[in-house]
Amino acid sequence: MTFLLVARQSYHCSVKTRNRPRFRHPSSLSAVTSQIVSCERCPRLRSYCRGIAETKRAAYRDWTYWARPVPGFGDPQARILILGLAPAAHGANRTGRVFTGDGRGGSGDFLMAALHRAGFANRDTSDHPDDGLALRGMYIAAAVRCAPPQNKPTPDEVAACLDHLEAELAHLPRVDTVVALGKIAWDAWLQLLARQHVLPRPKPAFGHGTVFDMRALERRRGSRGPAHLPGRLIGCYHPSRQNTNTGTVTPAMYDEVFQGLVGER
Ligand code: SF4
Repeated sequence: MTFLLVARQSYHCSVKTRNRPRFRHPSSLSAVTSQIVSCERCPRLRSYCRGIAETKRAAYRDWTYWARPVPGFGDPQARILILGLAPAAHGANRTGRVFTGDGRGGSGDFLMAALHRAGFANRDTSDHPDDGLALRGMYIAAAVRCAPPQNKPTPDEVAACLDHLEAELAHLPRVDTVVALGKIAWDAWLQLLARQHVLPRPKPAFGHGTVFDMRALERRRGSRGPAHLPGRLIGCYHPSRQNTNTGTVTPAMYDEVFQGLVGER
């Protein structure tokens, strides 16, 4: 597999600077998943996720919350990666699957409905890890794998968690397009690129429908770094209730992004 930084053999942590763990690079996607699920690098986020699982939301009082980091989900042969922000406290932090359990009309359902219309998902909702949802040609991951308070991870937490994305991508060999849901995800991806010293200045600005051609970077950097980068980074507003309830994000806007990717599947 040739992808970002796959030659690195260990993780680096900017959150736990003392006694930080040094991991071998996982040898399979399932091993990466196991490593993500057991990660404890960010004490603030781990504590928050466990606290949410104890207090719960009244509607979910009978649930045993997942309360662990949430790995990516989807088709290992995906050509398209969706990069979200982070698990929702009572969504993926409860269910253990990214963009799952956000409630009727929540982020997960809004996203999955668009993916279903475009033929990437076999269902138009995302309720529960056992709901039968399957993705074709697509993989979904979050920039930060633990739910952050107010959905605001710190820069150190984003940086620490990018190691997991990097490891996951090393086992997604066909990914050629990255769709960043929101500015934090967009910036996180650019931060990953910057680790290869291939980021242009000024930094590409996030916008809905903005396309950043990463192939140009590959041509510019010549023989430096790994041989392959995904071709495109596409910006897409996050499907948060705040955005969808106010009309900042509409189904038509999502159809424009995802139905435009049907040929990439
Ligand atoms: S946010 Fe990422 S790096 Fe931090 S504890 Fe969770 S999984 Fe680990």
